[in-house]
Amino acid sequence: MDETTGVPMHEHEEVAIARTEALFREVNERIAESAKRFESHEAEFVCECSDPTCVHRIAAPLDTYESVRECGTQFLLAPGHADERVERVVRERPRYAIVEKFQERVAALVRSLDPRASTA
Ligand SMILES: [Zn+2]
Repeated sequence: MDETTGVPMHEHEEVAIARTEALFREVNERIAESAKRFESHEAEFVCECSDPTCVHRIAAPLDTYESVRECGTQFLLAPGHADERVERVVRERPRYAIVEKFQERVAALVRSLDPRASTA
């Protein structure tokens, strides 16, 4: 991946991306909770991409979701929704992609907003 292209990102932009993705993650935490309550093995998650207007739904196994959540910098996205300025795809399936933040400031922000951080 070419890291030299593109203009440097502004801090407010990085904060906005981190907040948006952290918000979608909160929504998915609730979805996962209720799926577990109904002993379901799969759930319809929202796409955790950086676009605040994204309404994409992703059907994924709960196990997959849990493995994403083990890492505070990993997110579950619809395929093709990764923002390559801040994240790279670590796993891709027909229905979803898992990304990891490599952009330092965004990674630090999402880690600080991780609802499961207290257990880490
Ligand atoms: Zn999306």
